[in-house]
Amino acid sequence: MASARGRRRGRRSWKETFDVKGFATEVAKGLHQRLGLDYIGLTVEELAEILEPMIGELVEARATKPKAEVIVAKLERGKQLLLKAIAAHLLSRDELTPEQVEFIVANAEELAGRAAPKLYRQAEKHGLDHVVDALRYLWERYGNPLPVKCPRCGFSSLTPDLECIICGARVSEEELKQSIGFREMLLEYARTADKGILREILAAGFIILNGELKPPSLRPAGGYSIAIYLSRSEKEEIRRLLSEAKPPA
Ligand SMILES: [Zn+2]
Repeated sequence: MASARGRRRGRRSWKETFDVKGFATEVAKGLHQRLGLDYIGLTVEELAEILEPMIGELVEARATKPKAEVIVAKLERGKQLLLKAIAAHLLSRDELTPEQVEFIVANAEELAGRAAPKLYRQAEKHGLDHVVDALRYLWERYGNPLPVKCPRCGFSSLTPDLECIICGARVSEEELKQSIGFREMLLEYARTADKGILREILAAGFIILNGELKPPSLRPAGGYSIAIYLSRSEKEEIRRLLSEAKPPA
């Protein structure tokens, strides 16, 4: 009993005086070189800052005072976690180098997916087409994909106001219609739709798009939907279909 308490007290004493910050700097020097982090413009001081909370946890869990090499080895074994933390740190910068953009996308997919609007602008600026392709996928998987694709950047990112939350484009209704092949989509829908629904669409003058076409009466109360107004010729097509319709045999 007494000896256990003694050990605990001893343990507490080195932890109380342990200089996590200084130790993190020492570990950072070794790791910075081993991981070759110069190319992403990360300084040893920044790495030390990133490492500090991680090292704090590692030290807290230890019974004996650690050596820097031991902690470096441990952090290297959990390298993915460390690279993710570095990516998160880089992401807080306003402007990124091509290498930094690539590093974030390669090492922190989930984070990159959520930060796709910012990373897209940086990737475009540097002409990183392969990164844009990767981001498009990560946005679908981890971001906030919307039901309609932007005609300009191809991300699922067009708001009901026809603004793109990825590339910032403001799209005209005509451009949207072109990009989704609206005319064909409308005709295909109209061929199978109930005649009452077609009359409703004609009377309203618009149709709802949220992944698929719907009549105005089925517009979702909350959430996402785009109202697409029909051109004169599109209305004509629907009228033609209505007049052609034969009564059921
Ligand atoms: Zn866009």
